[in-house]
Amino acid sequence: MSTKQKYITVLSNNRRIIQAVIGVSIYLGISQFQISLWWVVGVGSALGIIWGKVFCRWMCPMGFIMELMMKMSPNDSFQKMYQYHKIGCPIAWISGWLNKFSFYKIQLNAATCKNCGICDKACYMTSIDKQKFSLYKPDMTNPAESFSCSKCLECVSECPNGSLTYKIALPYKSK
Ligand code: SF4
Ligand code: SF4
Repeated sequence: MSTKQKYITVLSNNRRIIQAVIGVSIYLGISQFQISLWWVVGVGSALGIIWGKVFCRWMCPMGFIMELMMKMSPNDSFQKMYQYHKIGCPIAWISGWLNKFSFYKIQLNAATCKNCGICDKACYMTSIDKQKFSLYKPDMTNPAESFSCSKCLECVSECPNGSLTYKIALPYKSK
């Protein structure tokens, strides 16, 4: 495992803590220091240009609460509620669209990939639609570039061969 993948694994394992800290800071910034919600929308969306849709699962206070509720009661109604709240969020729309164009991308090294499928099992999107999405099968849609990927980075941290990385990709290329 490369040093970079080790860092990503540490980040991914502590994502909810990071999300809670940033989420509470954003909440306090808005409620106590009167930071405009437009700033949050602007910065959250602009981050999508660099990293893709990172706001939802790494920074959003609402997302943190929704994920907590889904974990406490993993039934369909909370899943649907989570999807509905994102439909109304401009940050999710803009940064989700930017997943295709962001500087940082999840990239596959096909030369080292052993086709074990562990990355697909770790991804919440491929588990929803196994017929459509795959991180390593070249004839299928890359979930990391689709609107719904929130850059949880679990695919990268779970790959036992270090075949997936999250790094700057110019020109825009992921497989
Ligand atoms: S987990 Fe890694 S080695 Fe296995 S299929 Fe995915 S990219 Fe390839
Ligand atoms: S970061 Fe990887 S595991 Fe997470 S949603 Fe995107 S493609 Fe799936």
